[in-house]
Amino acid sequence: MDCIFCSIAKHESPADIVAETPDMIVFKSIKPSAPIHLLVVPRRHIASVADLADTDSELAGEVIQTARRVARDQGLEGYKLIFNVGRKGGQAVDHVHLHLLGGWQGDAEE
Ligand code: AMP
Ligand code: ZN
Repeated sequence: MDCIFCSIAKHESPADIVAETPDMIVFKSIKPSAPIHLLVVPRRHIASVADLADTDSELAGEVIQTARRVARDQGLEGYKLIFNVGRKGGQAVDHVHLHLLGGWQGDAEE
């Protein structure tokens, strides 16, 4: 399977990595849509939120908890969390990821 985010998670492709846990990797978007634009990515390949199983609740929660911790560590007070789901929902990379967007009006620590 040829998945860029799996490849980044295995350190086989380069990325500007911000945080890592045994289950998650967080890196900067290559094409930022905000002053701070991070992607929170489970290491396990799941194509999209639509492909989550009923038993994936813990993983789904951990994605949000990881975003919260990273946002705090980045000094962000306010931010947006976005999942794009499917082509019609604007999803281009078919490996589930949460967009963490922030850093407007000097909210982020330099
Ligand atoms: P989406 O449209 O929700 O699938 O978002 C894909 C995100 O991945 C966008 O923010 C892209 O800029 C970002 N992206 C795609 N390829 C890479 C890459 N190789 N390294 C870092 N970010 C990437
Ligand atoms: Zn993948």
